[in-house]
Amino acid sequence: RTPEIGLIGLGTMGANLALNIAEAGHVIAVFNRTSDRTRRFVEGAGPLADRIVPAETLNAFVDGLARPRRILLMVPAGAPVDEQIAALRPLLDTGDILIDGGNSDWQDSAARAESLQRDGLGYLGLGVSGGAEGARHGPSMMAGGAPEAYAAVGPILDDIAARFDATPCVAWLGHGGAGHFVKAVHNGIEYADMQMIAEVYGLMRDGQRRPDAEIAQVFGRWNAGPLESYLIEITAEVAGTTDPETGKPILSLIRDRAGQKGTGRWTVMDAQRRAAPLPAVEAAVTARVLSGEDAWRSAGARLFPQPKRAIALPDDNFERALLAGKILAYSQGFALLARAARDEGWDMSLAMVAQIWRAGCIIRSGLLDEMADALAQDGPDSLLAFAPGFARRLQDGVPALRRVVAEATLAGVPVPALSAALGHFDQLRQARGTANLIQGLRDRFGAHGFERLDRPGETGLHGPWGDA
Ligand code: NDP
Repeated sequence: RTPEIGLIGLGTMGANLALNIAEAGHVIAVFNRTSDRTRRFVEGAGPLADRIVPAETLNAFVDGLARPRRILLMVPAGAPVDEQIAALRPLLDTGDILIDGGNSDWQDSAARAESLQRDGLGYLGLGVSGGAEGARHGPSMMAGGAPEAYAAVGPILDDIAARFDATPCVAWLGHGGAGHFVKAVHNGIEYADMQMIAEVYGLMRDGQRRPDAEIAQVFGRWNAGPLESYLIEITAEVAGTTDPETGKPILSLIRDRAGQKGTGRWTVMDAQRRAAPLPAVEAAVTARVLSGEDAWRSAGARLFPQPKRAIALPDDNFERALLAGKILAYSQGFALLARAARDEGWDMSLAMVAQIWRAGCIIRSGLLDEMADALAQDGPDSLLAFAPGFARRLQDGVPALRRVVAEATLAGVPVPALSAALGHFDQLRQARGTANLIQGLRDRFGAHGFERLDRPGETGLHGPWGDA
């Protein structure tokens, strides 16, 4: 009964992962800062408690583990991870491996990998997706760090991961912070997905005055078509749920203020730093920020009432618009991954990323299987939106997206993520853009210079602006 692996932090994710590991047949040691929680955890573990070895002190926890030690941290990102690593460090031996399974900033993860490696310790930054349910029954996991560390931990991760057609949804995606980076982009895409879904919900609620129960049925139907995904499935469930106390639809009672822990914002900031376009995610992050500005929104509603115009679009128009918006958002996300992998020297297969997102994670969907195939065929510089299967889907879906954005705009119902996706698409198909004017203006006020189409190869040319 020597524990093959140890886990620190028996919160929502840690407790469920520990049960998952035990259920997969591995003996696991567990430690929690507050030992009361450890006791309650073991008491509630039922027959799995046989494979769980609780420790009251960090020393006892570390001493009991098989060598090299494998220790999974499931504590909140930021200072708690550093504190926990600092407490463990003096107790560890060369070759021991720390795995950070929280939502850490990928740059923190890269720095920790480097610093631990200097002391001969292995490190994996492990993005875990799937919420509590995923952690318990099979999450999708994105690993970064030393390949040797992955080789030592991979078999256990394979055993606990979600499966798609028997393939475990876990992979090593590059050195340092690669795993946490991919997890952040996953969350960024999740923000865009959820925002677009919420926008379509808003069009049906405010533009068509439909009750939540009816909207739930529409989402339920969509889940049997090309939009089939976990998020659409739970949208149908949430929209169709009634509050047992009041008998009202639960959505009518939930405050319209979205929370966020930062991964979407980090993704957007990273994309801006790399000059990678990510407009649908940016719009989604900004929409969450604005959702928190209730006072502005209430004052705005009084000052500028919504135009009285109903949105008379059929449901399949919304469905196709949502699909097109989703493809564009994913195309942006994968392009950011490709750019980052190139910048950071990560040996990352985008097809593999799509594959491990097919099951277990929050953005799992039927479409990801097709995306994995398309990404396996295309070079890293091409856009997913241009892959033949997806270009065809866009040809079909973009006219619907255009109608939805147009009708929403006329009716004054906000669709920031859908319209950001459409704006991006329209820029992508504009071979002759309008940056000629930007360059003309930059040269006029700042003598920044431009290139001329009729004098290829020459740079730093100027316009005849006189003395300006
Ligand atoms: P919880 O808040 O449920 O649990 C946090 C755990 O960390 C508790 O066991 C707590 O111990 C411990 N802890 C907190 N601060 C410290 C500290 N300074 N030193 C040592 N231990 C500490 O968090 P979650 O399980 O929800 O999240 C854990 C990580 O997983 C986070 O990084 C989160 O972002 C990430 N994550 C969460 C998901 C989710 O759906 N909840 C999904 C994917 C990732 P104590 O009992 O003593 O308070």
